[in-house]
Amino acid sequence: MKVTIDASAGFCWGVVRTIDIAEDEMKAGEPLYSLGPVIHNPMEIGRLRERGLATVTHADLPSLAGKKVLIRAHGEPPSTYREAKKQGVTLIDATCPVVTKVQERIRKFHDNGYQIVIFGKKDHAEVIGLLGHTNNEAIVVKSVAEAEKVDPGKKTVLFSQTTMDKATFYEIAAVLKKRIQDFVVGTFEESAIDFHAKDTICGQVSGRDKRLREFAASQDVMVFVAGRDSSNGKVLYDICREANPRSYFIEQAGELKAEWFTGVATVGISGATSTPHWLMARVKEAIEGMKR
Ligand code: SF4
Repeated sequence: MKVTIDASAGFCWGVVRTIDIAEDEMKAGEPLYSLGPVIHNPMEIGRLRERGLATVTHADLPSLAGKKVLIRAHGEPPSTYREAKKQGVTLIDATCPVVTKVQERIRKFHDNGYQIVIFGKKDHAEVIGLLGHTNNEAIVVKSVAEAEKVDPGKKTVLFSQTTMDKATFYEIAAVLKKRIQDFVVGTFEESAIDFHAKDTICGQVSGRDKRLREFAASQDVMVFVAGRDSSNGKVLYDICREANPRSYFIEQAGELKAEWFTGVATVGISGATSTPHWLMARVKEAIEGMKR
């Protein structure tokens, strides 16, 4: 049986950067605190915990005066920066530059009086950060059906959480545009239509679709490794399963089942942008060592 790790799998550069920043800070031996889990992967969190990275919540900030707190790749709303300053906490800002750019663009449109629509998950840390840049006034939609919540009478801009699915983004954009057009045409001059769709889905996620699809289709069985909370892991796993119905989702090697590999010649391993390479290598080793 041939077991192959997908060459395009592994951390995106935004996550590599965040972990590099955290590891650099810990070199000095001082404790470092991550505001929320640094990555959607419990195995990698465990490795970093052993090196001294503790996970804290916003409620812990008052007890961290004088300490260093890491802002992870997802970013934070402006209120977190104000609170940290008030509590005397030093922030180590590892927000992914791609996310920072989206925050800036959203803020600019909000300041110019636009109704902001974010295609994303309202409880996701990145979306909470983006919302904060609109005074929590943006409307979060996670499906085409939810586009109904948007007021067609306002000038509107649609953004996306960076890890969402592109096809759905464009469907939502088309539905919103049509609703706004229909409203304006019946009410004002057509030139009054003011709608923009800003595709802010990260290339590190969308670029992987095609390669993952091809890789998954070329294998008898696929094992997809990711944290169960990883948003991008869910999107990529769905693609994997579409291309190869014999796909299995695991968080760690202990979840593998020998029966998945009976009579199989090729097994592919892939993962989310938050899945470390060492973890996929461990899964590969476990599959190769299985008695079938
Ligand atoms: S997926 Fe993109 S936006 Fe998200 S952390 Fe990675 S590089 Fe940054």
